[in-house]
Amino acid sequence: MSNTTHDIIIIGAGPAGLAAGIYGARAKLRTLIIEKGAIGGMASNTREIVNYPGFKQTSGTALTKEMAEHAKEMGTEIIKGEVKTVDLSGEIKRVVTRKKQEFTARAVILATGTLPRVLGIPGEKELRGNGVAYCATCDAEFFEGQHVVVVGSGDQAIEEGMFIAKFANQVTVIVLHDEGKLDCNRLSAEKALHHPKLKFVWNSTLTAVQGDEEVTGVQVKNIKTGEMSEIPCQGVFFFVGMIPATHFLKGQVELDDRGYVMVNDLLETSVEGVFAAGDLRPKYLRQVVTATADGAAAVVAAERYLQEKENLRTTVLEAEKPVILAFWSPEDQASLQAVSRVEKVVSELPNEYLFVKTDVTRQRMLAKKYQVTTLPRVFVLNKGEVVQTIDTDAEVDDIKEILKALIQQA
Ligand SMILES: Cc1cc2nc3c(=O)[nH]c(=O)nc-3n(C[C@H](O)[C@H](O)[C@H](O)COP(=O)(O)OP(=O)(O)OC[C@H]3O[C@@H](n4cnc5c(N)ncnc54)[C@H](O)[C@@H]3O)c2cc1C
Repeated sequence: MSNTTHDIIIIGAGPAGLAAGIYGARAKLRTLIIEKGAIGGMASNTREIVNYPGFKQTSGTALTKEMAEHAKEMGTEIIKGEVKTVDLSGEIKRVVTRKKQEFTARAVILATGTLPRVLGIPGEKELRGNGVAYCATCDAEFFEGQHVVVVGSGDQAIEEGMFIAKFANQVTVIVLHDEGKLDCNRLSAEKALHHPKLKFVWNSTLTAVQGDEEVTGVQVKNIKTGEMSEIPCQGVFFFVGMIPATHFLKGQVELDDRGYVMVNDLLETSVEGVFAAGDLRPKYLRQVVTATADGAAAVVAAERYLQEKENLRTTVLEAEKPVILAFWSPEDQASLQAVSRVEKVVSELPNEYLFVKTDVTRQRMLAKKYQVTTLPRVFVLNKGEVVQTIDTDAEVDDIKEILKALIQQA
């Protein structure tokens, strides 16, 4: 294996990726994080965080800066680069950036989070960066004394709308619902509805952003009456939801119909050795605390995967003598007794076999490789290939004879 191959590559340096970096390096795994934008991810643009345990009040920038320093001090390498393509199918995973830099690893953790949803109306793409924006922390100050339109009425839209109003002289919020109904939390709704600089256009949606080089206005449609109107403005902020940043993973790992990466409770994706952590997976709560928890869990699962892979290689595939691989579970006492009985038989033979007792609750990869669905299961292997399945209910002498015969044939 190439000595440039990492143990783990983490794609994305948001809270999930940084937490994974801390745990990875701490487990003495050679860990690389690749980040296309700001280290700290979406959280680094959050002005105030008051719900991360241990930090009564901090900013997203400060919190994620600490996380990045922590990861680096532990020994994780963080580099800039946008991952454009991946080949995750083999044992060695390949990751290629936009600038054609190629990296390899034995395990990959996907932690690319989410992106703001684009409405896809005329003018939106063309005027992005010239009046069309998606991040108030990044761009609100450019609209000092101007008129800004905000699209959406969720927590993000309303809270960001009030922040934009610190700079703009008027903020017009376009809301799909009937008058007075906002999707955000009640406290923010009350504040926003009484805010002197916020005005609301109800039952409406945006149909176009107007302007040649810069935004000059928006076209609005009343969804109840069909009536069209125009609002002159210099800026439009879209807060109409988030989508997973997983476009480059299509065909590589299983995604749900919205593009989120499907994982099991160990954060394993549909591909062996590939894990997913943070906002890019289906989950109930998308917050910094759940993203960091995912990062930690994904690395522990990856570490176990790498360990199992190594065990498989050294104790089974490259073993110098035939291996007797015996599967049992601590939750199934009968399987332990049956396996122990075979172990005793093997111990009475000359030193011909290597006996490997395998707890299926801990060695899931081995159990999967040998398709173990019932317990106990005992196989005789030669260079990893099954040459005989042992019936654990058979008489001790019969088992002994089978094992002796196999040695003579070898
Ligand atoms: C306005 C706002 C306010 C919020 N306020 C709070 C709050 O107060 N408290 C709280 O707990 N949570 C808050 N959240 C949610 C929190 O920010 C997210 O849950 C958290 O950042 C998710 O972390 P993540 O690591 O999964 O993803 P992200 O933070 O989105 O990080 C993903 C990273 O991956 C990178 N990336 C994506 N694609 C690639 C690629 N192809 N190659 C390389 N890098 C890539 C991105 O650039 C990004 O840095 C807020 C979110 C928003 C939008």
